[in-house]
Amino acid sequence: MEREVTDILESYVRDAWWAPDAGASSVAVLDASTGEVVTHVSTSGIDLAGALDHARTVGQASLGALTFHQRALLLKEFAVALTARKEELYELSKRAGATVRDSLNDVDGGIGVLFTYASKGRRELPNAQVYLDGPVEPLAKDGSFLGRHVYSRLPGVAVQINAFNFPMWGALEKFAPAFLAGVPSLVKPATPTAYIAEAWVRILVKTGRLPAGSLQLVSGPVPGLFDHLGLGDLVGFTGSASTAAGLREQAAPGVRFTSETDSINASVLGPDALPGTPEFDAYIKQLLVELTTKAGQKCTAIRRAIVPSAAVDAVVDALRGKIAERVVVGDPHAEGVTMGPLVSREQRDEVLRAVAALQESGGRVVVGSTDAPDVLRADGTTGPAPDGAFVAPMVLAFDGDAAALPDAVHDVEAFGPVASLLPYRSVDEAADLVGRGGGSLVTSVATADPSVAATLLARTAAYNGRLLFLDRDDAPTSTGHGAPVPHLVHGGPGRAGGGEELGGIRAVLHHMQRTAVQGSPAMLTALTGVWHQGAASRSDKHPFRKPLAELRIGDQFASPLRAVTLDDIETFAHFTGDLFYAHMDEEAAAANPFFPGRVAHGYLLVSWAAGLFVDPAPGPVLANYGLENLRFVTPVSPGDEVRVVLTAKQITPRETDEYGEVRWDAVLLNQRDEIVATYDVLTLVAKTWDEVDA
Ligand code: NDP
Repeated sequence: MEREVTDILESYVRDAWWAPDAGASSVAVLDASTGEVVTHVSTSGIDLAGALDHARTVGQASLGALTFHQRALLLKEFAVALTARKEELYELSKRAGATVRDSLNDVDGGIGVLFTYASKGRRELPNAQVYLDGPVEPLAKDGSFLGRHVYSRLPGVAVQINAFNFPMWGALEKFAPAFLAGVPSLVKPATPTAYIAEAWVRILVKTGRLPAGSLQLVSGPVPGLFDHLGLGDLVGFTGSASTAAGLREQAAPGVRFTSETDSINASVLGPDALPGTPEFDAYIKQLLVELTTKAGQKCTAIRRAIVPSAAVDAVVDALRGKIAERVVVGDPHAEGVTMGPLVSREQRDEVLRAVAALQESGGRVVVGSTDAPDVLRADGTTGPAPDGAFVAPMVLAFDGDAAALPDAVHDVEAFGPVASLLPYRSVDEAADLVGRGGGSLVTSVATADPSVAATLLARTAAYNGRLLFLDRDDAPTSTGHGAPVPHLVHGGPGRAGGGEELGGIRAVLHHMQRTAVQGSPAMLTALTGVWHQGAASRSDKHPFRKPLAELRIGDQFASPLRAVTLDDIETFAHFTGDLFYAHMDEEAAAANPFFPGRVAHGYLLVSWAAGLFVDPAPGPVLANYGLENLRFVTPVSPGDEVRVVLTAKQITPRETDEYGEVRWDAVLLNQRDEIVATYDVLTLVAKTWDEVDA
């Protein structure tokens, strides 16, 4: 890094770097491979209440001044800044045992989350501060009383307590949605990798673009923190189930607490995925990746490989072969190392204890060994490394009926390169085994047989946050069993913590309160910035002549009526080739319960509507990029007349472009003012337009 990790790690509170009192008691953080001291961590003397207060006042105010799109663009700037310095982050991560391939998950994965939210925030959220959920609910017959659901940001602080295994990804997957929602974050990294969290925070601070109070970092213990939390605050926790349980109890009523904890994830080899099939090969490859990436220290790693009993030996042989061929255990600083140590010797001891517990309950180590492995050291020599936290990849096989397998295989999480191999005899038995994990983050299934997949989906979805079906078609492009993607929900029921993270905009909404709002059309229009049917409108000038600088919601154009003839219907039918009987055959159409006889094509009416509302001369409207929510309500017969009313409903200026999006409310009516069709027209409109120069 530009700055060496110091003797004692600084925290970032109240928009300044903060160092603990000189001589304060601290915890040493050691290099995972060599045991050398990397840094010390301490929070002695820190003002946690002050930090929370700063977030709630300064952080809330600075984020509140920005729209979703402005926050999204800042996330993109942060992602770009981190990308420029990711090599330094890889280098630093090696000290925690991460190979560069591991850092693709942590460093690049974290940056990817920022980019994804930067993009989703601008595509899926309005350029505003509230988010509307679902359609308008008419609550009075005459349209004067409406209801709808509105999300607004929580007024507090998002406390993010992270696990040691993903100091970047794990932190950024919480920070990005909180930031986008407009809620300031207080990040508490896990001590063993706190220096990596400090490094990415330092890069973000260095950009000079962090809104004041929007991000704080507290490295070290946080005693009493929960005493200061209340309604409007959130806690997002990742780590052990026992810590989660303790903290959940400490959280005051009203604090939103989500946790993501131990998970005894499963991977099922389908009965059809026999040796020699592409699904078998994909299964073995995936198992190897999950065992060795981050040395198995992934909340999503495969802990239970559930395989047909007849395939157990083949799986063991194939995995042994792959490990011999591919896995080089050692210090990630050494060229050629493919699996690093665990994060600390404490974690190594913990993993060996878990393996011993699995052995005691009947597990046989069939791949690898519990002996300390010889490793490739940073200087290129090979041999023991007693000061490092190394363990070999291991698989334990269990025998016997699925129902009689010991509870330990479903309970004990060896948080390292360790998996149990469990035999099954029927797909139902495999499903039972998956469920006995008590709730998992993810289960993968290698099968090309949709009926196997359907049974497992029906039987196991309720026990999992995510299911991955691996077959020959998606195996080459699959993002993998252990890789949560920002677009999809990450989290799982029961033992996995019961929380949900990521899942695209869902994660942003977790930081917001959904409130049902009732009122008149005018009031809802004023409150939401979206025009509601029944609110005031203005028809001073054709709205297509108004650039965004001039256009206001409620600006309206109402066309005259246009007659519909049988000739028109015939012409449209032959021109487009749409000779459907409802338009062409009087007798057949009349026999249809929905039509009085031949009727006009819905698309003819929508096309006419465009002709009726358009202002054709060059102007600020640049493009029509689609229609949404199109519904045909009343059929139109020859002899009827139609007209259209077009109203500017929502205006979304784009931050970085010279134009924005305008959503128009379109209503087609007949000569009796019955609604013929309703839809939204989506256009791009220039921010400015000079009629004189045009
Ligand atoms: P912990 O639950 O002990 O720690 C997780 C986070 O909680 C760390 O940031 C830790 O900080 C913090 N923490 C601990 N106690 C408190 C407290 N009283 N108040 C506030 N924060 C607290 O898990 P570990 O990191 O020690 O890992 C232990 C086990 O957890 C692993 O062996 C594994 O089984 C499981 N685990 C599961 C993960 C998952 O993603 N599902 C990820 C990592 C671990 P500090 O480090 O400073 O103590």
